[in-house]
Order: sequence, then structure tokens, then C-alpha cells
Amino acid sequence: MSISARQLITHIQKTALDAVFPPGCVNCAEPIDSPGNLCGRCWPEMTYISAPFCNICGYPFEYHAGDDMICAACLKRAPAYSKARAVLKYDEASREMILGYKHSDQTNRAPTFAQWMHRAGLNLINGCDIICPVPLHRQRLIRRRFNQSAMLARELSKLSGKPAILDLLIRKHHTRTQGGLSARARFRNVRGAFDINPTRAKLLEGTRVLLIDDVLTTGATVEACSKTLIDGGVQNVDVLTFSRVVRAANTTI
Ligand SMILES: [Zn+2]
Ligand SMILES: [Zn+2]
Repeated sequence: MSISARQLITHIQKTALDAVFPPGCVNCAEPIDSPGNLCGRCWPEMTYISAPFCNICGYPFEYHAGDDMICAACLKRAPAYSKARAVLKYDEASREMILGYKHSDQTNRAPTFAQWMHRAGLNLINGCDIICPVPLHRQRLIRRRFNQSAMLARELSKLSGKPAILDLLIRKHHTRTQGGLSARARFRNVRGAFDINPTRAKLLEGTRVLLIDDVLTTGATVEACSKTLIDGGVQNVDVLTFSRVVRAANTTI
């Protein structure tokens, strides 16, 4: 059977895209026309975070009440980072998709997630000098076989042309997993857990770093990482995550 040149090119393009993006819906694997997307059923289920939101931590607000709005949590205590932004709300609809990526080797979701992060965090990406991921401890890295945040950082570097330094931060000791801990316990658990990789330290003075993680829960991990970077001479840290937990607690002091 012979195929036309156009069909062949289309086939080659599609094969190349399939190599980057999973061929089906990123969430449910339902066949879709354009790879790297959600199907028509999954798309409206997700909650995309858009303005109005807290100018610092990105906590979404119901109503717009003027520019530069700050949530109660940030007013009470400003974080070490300048701005945090996220693509999706972490909820019933997005949980399986994110946990599948984090724990079940669904690593082919990384290019899609990164593309959405690139769109949602374009201002932060344009304003940074270096992209770096939240590190996993070596023991956890061996067990999980990949650092899901490093994969997102690498993809974002490809999309933006900004350099990613994947080993910029290191975990000094093995902290217990943050799951199941209260917000206060999470901050205590990761305090002092990170260090700057000594071989990278001289690159940092006066730079603007964009810190990447998959989920922002209480912000304890990115806060500990941001403090470490700033103590190491970084001028500014912004945070870009794929998703974030949205708690009512942010709205009350
Ligand atoms: Zn779907
Ligand atoms: Zn805030």
C-alpha cells in the first residue's frame, strides 16, 4: 500500500509528537486528536487557577478587589519567596492525574504539565536567571527512580531556554514524608533540611531563581528551599508549581 507524501509527513509528525506527549488524554488516556491535552470530559473537571489571586502566594480569590491583593496568610507572615504561581487546584479531579505522575511512573505526563506551567508562569520564567527543582533525598530518589520536580524543571528549561540546574539544592537529611502532617509540623519537618550544592554556590550571587515543584501544599517545603537560596546569596526566588492545595485557612488571620 502506498501513502502520499503528505500522509507520510503527517505520520512522522504524529509519531514525533507521540514520543513527547502521551497519545491519549493526559488524565484518562481516552484517545484525543491533539496529544498533550485533556479530553473533552476531563478538561472541564479541572479547576484552573487564574486571577484574581494573592499577589504573593497565588491563593485564588472569589472576587477582584483591586490590584496587588494579598491573602491573610501572607499579610500575617510574608514568605521568603516573592511570588508563587500554580496551574491547577489540587482537588478530587486532579489528584489521580498528579499522583499517577508522582508515584506511578507516568513520567510521560511531564512535557504536558510543563507546557501548562510555562503558560501559567510566563512572567516568572521570563524574570528568572536559573530554574531549579525542589530536591528529593537520595534514598527517596532511589526508591522512586526519578525526581518529578526535576523532570518538570528540565522540560521548562527546554521550553524557555533558561538554564536549569537540577542539583542546585540538596537535601541534607532524610525528612519524613510531609503527608499526614499538620501545617505547623510540615514547617518544622523541613526546617534546615536543604543546602546549596557547594559545587554550585559560586554561581548564585545576585541571581533570580525560579523554584519548581509538582504540588504546593502548605508551602513549607518551598519556604525552606527559598530561605536556603536567599541565605546563599540569591537575590530573588519565585515558585512555580503544577498544582496547589487551596485551603480556606488562607483567608483568615
Ligand atoms: Zn480524559
Ligand atoms: Zn498569599
